Amino acid sequence: MTTHNEFSRCVAQYDPHALPVPAAQAITREWATPVTAVERVALRDALDRVLAADIVSPIDVPSHDNSAMDGYAFNGAALAAAAPAVELTVVGKALAGHPFPGRVEGAQCVRVMTGACIPQGCDTVVPQELVERSADSASIRFLADAVRAGANRRLAGEDLARGHAALRAGRVLRASDLGLLASLGIGEINVRRRLRVAFFSTGDELRSLGEPLDAGSVYDSNRYTLFAMLRRLNVDTLDLGVIRDEPAALEAALRSAAASADVVLTSGGVSVGEADFTRQMLQTFGDVAFWSLAMRPGRPLAFGRVWSGGRPGLGLPALFFGLPGNPVAVMVTFYQIVREVLLLMSGATPQPLPVIQAASQCPIRKRPGRTEFQRGIATQAANGANGANGQWQVTPTGSQSSGVLSSMSEANCFIVLGHDEGDIAEGERVSIMLFHGLI
Ligand code: AMP
Ligand code: MG
Repeated sequence: MTTHNEFSRCVAQYDPHALPVPAAQAITREWATPVTAVERVALRDALDRVLAADIVSPIDVPSHDNSAMDGYAFNGAALAAAAPAVELTVVGKALAGHPFPGRVEGAQCVRVMTGACIPQGCDTVVPQELVERSADSASIRFLADAVRAGANRRLAGEDLARGHAALRAGRVLRASDLGLLASLGIGEINVRRRLRVAFFSTGDELRSLGEPLDAGSVYDSNRYTLFAMLRRLNVDTLDLGVIRDEPAALEAALRSAAASADVVLTSGGVSVGEADFTRQMLQTFGDVAFWSLAMRPGRPLAFGRVWSGGRPGLGLPALFFGLPGNPVAVMVTFYQIVREVLLLMSGATPQPLPVIQAASQCPIRKRPGRTEFQRGIATQAANGANGANGQWQVTPTGSQSSGVLSSMSEANCFIVLGHDEGDIAEGERVSIMLFHGLI
């Protein structure tokens, strides 16, 4: 585990007053220590869990050569021997699950259905629609150039070969993977234990649902966006409620969070006006750096480690992210900074979020020197319409204020404007990240 000094050294390499997003990502990534505990779960409980070890295929899938078509199986050598037409005697049939028991000789064939084992002596299947059957169905005729030798045969092991890794450790299991494991006859697997993430909101102005809204107060929405985003990552969540802006209350909440979770997320209390107060408290009992990210929204961020014992090295540690208070900034920093760390700590091998190019439908103002994540509405031109050929187009949502959460609900993507980019002209291409499957 990284020590207090290593943390300070690691963080000191950067200017905390304008930390570029990639630098922040590099530091936080370095601090992600994956959970090691393993649980055995039934296949149906494995969706979205992280595979703990490679799955080596115990069998060939399919286990036998089988037919890809409804048709007739025969020895492909018969094609060369007989031109222009091939005539074969039908000696039996094979259905999926009911193999033909005998051996097929030169001018013979077997009626086969899709998935049926290819009978012994055969290597080729002619589809039924290409053959002419005799009146009594005892023989078939087809043109020799209708099929090639070896056609329409699925080979044993062509899906998954015995002894090969079918799935790799670190994979977040999807629907197809559950089916794939079932095709190997595997009903239980080892997965990493779920990551535990505690979160709370800070602010004297915050009210929880069910409480009356008095003058100057707002309902706490960050705990709901955080809860939902964490759910998508399939981590265990621990909601510690709203904590008042009081050092003793904050300290107690952080210590209890560190005692029971791997990661603690808070929102609020890290902006310029409030950071001093939070910083004072955190400096005593954690290794925490306060950053001003070169990013919009989401400029202020605190990152480090907190300890349940109230001092670095005392009790149990938890990784700590002090996210900004503004509701949009919470979501943006979660996706751009926190998400990857949570996946790494879950034992997963995260893939970068897909970025696609879209033509901006209007000019966008952007100052170089920070990465911006504007909320956008992306549409794809109908294929072929106006010659656009499915090109993506994007328009920023009305308000880009980091307090306007409705901009997130209205949007379906982030427009990602890179650190060095300046103003965008109408029609210029920009990078977008679709929310689909993410938010
Ligand atoms: P702060 O970072 O604590 O200064 O908060 C910045 C802004 O975000 C303020 O307008 C807060 O009222 C608002 N805010 C902070 N936390 C929340 C929350 N949990 N839900 C909704 N708004 C919040
Ligand atoms: Mg606050």
